[in-house]
Amino acid sequence: MQNPYDNAMTQLKKAGDIANIKKDTLLKLSSPDRFIQVSIPIRMDSGELKIFTGYRVQYDNSRGPYKGGIRFHPDTDLSEVKALAFWMTIKCSVVGIPLGGGKGGITVNPKELSKAELERLSRGFIQKIKPIIGPNQDIPAPDVYTTPEIMSWMADEFGNKATFTGKPIEKGGSEGRGNATAQGAFYILEKAMAKLEINKDIKIAIQGFGNAGAVFAKLVKEAGYQVVAVSDSKGGIFDNDGLDIAAIESHKKETGSVQNFAGAENITNEKLLELPVDVLALAALENQITKDNAKQVKAKLIIELANGPLTPEADEILKDKEVVVCPDVLTNAGGVTVSYFEWQQNLADEHWTEEDVNSKMKEIMEKAFDEVWETAEKYQVILRTAGFIKAIERIENELKI
Ligand code: GLU
Repeated sequence: MQNPYDNAMTQLKKAGDIANIKKDTLLKLSSPDRFIQVSIPIRMDSGELKIFTGYRVQYDNSRGPYKGGIRFHPDTDLSEVKALAFWMTIKCSVVGIPLGGGKGGITVNPKELSKAELERLSRGFIQKIKPIIGPNQDIPAPDVYTTPEIMSWMADEFGNKATFTGKPIEKGGSEGRGNATAQGAFYILEKAMAKLEINKDIKIAIQGFGNAGAVFAKLVKEAGYQVVAVSDSKGGIFDNDGLDIAAIESHKKETGSVQNFAGAENITNEKLLELPVDVLALAALENQITKDNAKQVKAKLIIELANGPLTPEADEILKDKEVVVCPDVLTNAGGVTVSYFEWQQNLADEHWTEEDVNSKMKEIMEKAFDEVWETAEKYQVILRTAGFIKAIERIENELKI
């Protein structure tokens, strides 16, 4: 796999080459403030001792405490976590919330662990990173394969609820946080469609059927768009007449995958990316569209709910094909925006309504979209580079160097 951190640094350089950003700022953003790697010894249910490796990267806190999720994934490594922490720094700045960027991860396949083992691993990780996190220092959240329940174990282990976001509501979580990433991406989709004058009669393919992808599928379906393909890590399904998302959710719960759904054709994840659709939503992992398959993409609009799903080479190819890409650092920022609200609610001991949360988030997302769009027009660059420029300008104002 292409190194995600190299991709992230290529994106940074590209923004720096175009806009009038100081060399010192680019240098500061070319390495994280701090990272730690920890070994987490876990007694498995069988009695066997296993050692897992975990990471926390604190990238930049010029604009506020480090903020970002913790992922549990078998392919997670330091390079990935560094890239994700850097993207969090850019993302929080794109939407103008006063937070910096961080990220964590454990190299593990959580599907192979029992619930008790998962809890011991989550608590064990917090014991190891305890000295460097805190409500005004570094505030973790969920990411790929981590859940509100995992956040509640972690917050309990740490002993302070304002140090974690994405918790269950009854443990101090915010209304709307569970759907926030997809909800925010939906606002961005509607803004982009209006700008590009794409009418509502569209077909969408969605890669990834986890928290972001499955909720996004439901939202677009409710809005009257046709979802013709979805996929998960095992593969995808396609029906040109449109899929019943609620039925697929139950099917996945029962069988463990979206595949073999009655009336739909099984397809590979690779094929899903090349379908003749109007919109392609990417809600899985990094490096999904690369120089090898970018030319085959037929969608006119790409919505990045995942972090880093396109390589810099793919960006160039898609730009030439006039495919508009709504980049991760803007599109999936609804998640961290509602995390910011959760943190504020915890600190002030408040509980906001879902309507309140959603309308505040919508306002932030739509404003950020307009700012990024204007920046893209000003510099004649793609939306990703525009988002980076906007974010780095804000960071530059706060840098203490
Ligand atoms: N993991 C999410 C992201 O990549 C959310 C982070 C957060 O809420 O802190 O944006």
